[in-house]
Amino acid sequence: MKRIVFVVAVVSLLIFETVVPAHASSLFQWSRSRNSVFILKPGPNLFTFTFEQPDIEMERELRGPVNPVLVGKKIVIDPGHGGANPGALGPGGTTEADNVLAKSLILAEMLRADGAEVIMTREDAGDVPGPRSVHQLERRVRIARNSGADIFVSIHNNTHRDRRIKGTLTFYYSPAGQSKLLAEAIQEELSSRLGSKDLGTLRRAFYVLRNTSMPSVLVEVGFLTNPEEGPKLADPVYQRQAAEGVYKGIISYFEAETRE
Ligand SMILES: [Zn+2]
Repeated sequence: MKRIVFVVAVVSLLIFETVVPAHASSLFQWSRSRNSVFILKPGPNLFTFTFEQPDIEMERELRGPVNPVLVGKKIVIDPGHGGANPGALGPGGTTEADNVLAKSLILAEMLRADGAEVIMTREDAGDVPGPRSVHQLERRVRIARNSGADIFVSIHNNTHRDRRIKGTLTFYYSPAGQSKLLAEAIQEELSSRLGSKDLGTLRRAFYVLRNTSMPSVLVEVGFLTNPEEGPKLADPVYQRQAAEGVYKGIISYFEAETRE
């Protein structure tokens, strides 16, 4: 027993010495994905640490460049479908639910790294969390409403009986509000980033658009039923490009809002 304790102590010491430079008085850590800054300091003895919040000045220094128009913004990203509802089916067994989740996770990461607070309606393949008695769509709306978000962006893949139909399309509902401007900004950046056919923006009374009070849009990245576009929608490179397009659109929307 004593021998085991001794070996564990020696191994821990070796690991500690490798990880922590002897001269370091404190270690700065920033988790980009969680958008949090903290200082990790060695404690009173070798095997303890303390965490401290840095002051604003130091936090800014540690954080590095962020996009000023996104700092303090709350953005709800709503990957369509999920759980028992796979949405539209694509070639080779791919589903709309999986495709849009992949894009949404990349998009969330980009926005968080730039200083925005991102709330996702679902972060895995399962259902949107919420009471069983409440419909999936209503759960999405409640998450948006309770978060006090600045904007709501729902991501989907489209389908059409005519397999020749392809392109990118963004829906909004509130006619005079900011939703239309948000839809136009995302549509422009997304279709140009993807090089897809620009089908423009359309007003449509989808449940999540009709029932959210903040500027809200529903993005149809492309058509799963189109032989050319369908496979692309499940391709990780194309998914990243789609996330970049929506990201640029969101920035361009907030930039225009700041100028007003
Ligand atoms: Zn959908």
